[in-house]
Amino acid sequence: MIAHVLLFLGTLVAMEGVGYLAHRYVMHGWGWFLHRSHHEPQLGVVETNDVYLLVLALVAICLIVLGNAGHDPLQWVGAGVAAFGIIYVFVHDGIVHRHWPLRPKPRNPYLRRLYQAHLLHHAVKGRRNSVSFGFLYAPPIWVLKRQLKARRAPVKAAVEHAVEAGLAGDGAA
Ligand SMILES: [Zn+2]
Ligand SMILES: [Zn+2]
Repeated sequence: MIAHVLLFLGTLVAMEGVGYLAHRYVMHGWGWFLHRSHHEPQLGVVETNDVYLLVLALVAICLIVLGNAGHDPLQWVGAGVAAFGIIYVFVHDGIVHRHWPLRPKPRNPYLRRLYQAHLLHHAVKGRRNSVSFGFLYAPPIWVLKRQLKARRAPVKAAVEHAVEAGLAGDGAA
């Protein structure tokens, strides 16, 4: 039993790592066409980004069904995946984006940090140069702000360089 609980908790923690990698490299990578809706002004109750949640639910259900069909202890891994999904929906959709009628204000320091960190994730328009891809763990806000600045700097420098080059071109013509 203790081994099962540890497996459940271990899966929950590991899912944060899986979620981080998926968000950074899939959702902001080739899967951007689905995640994009989440980075644009809210249009309705559902968004194409919810497909990722659906995939997560399917994985959890498959693991639980397999576990219950005799492939013990897969059901505990599935329960960990499901728990991650449920916590994610509460924290991300409920507390951070406030998609629900009840809008709890994050007073708890941990939730406040998650809230601010995720707002910084949404501070960048588009797919690139974003920060804070985690869901249930966020680095300190000052770290994220520094990352954000560092990622914006090359873009700013490139724009300035292009403007200067354009002006120089005009002068020569
Ligand atoms: Zn994102
Ligand atoms: Zn979000």
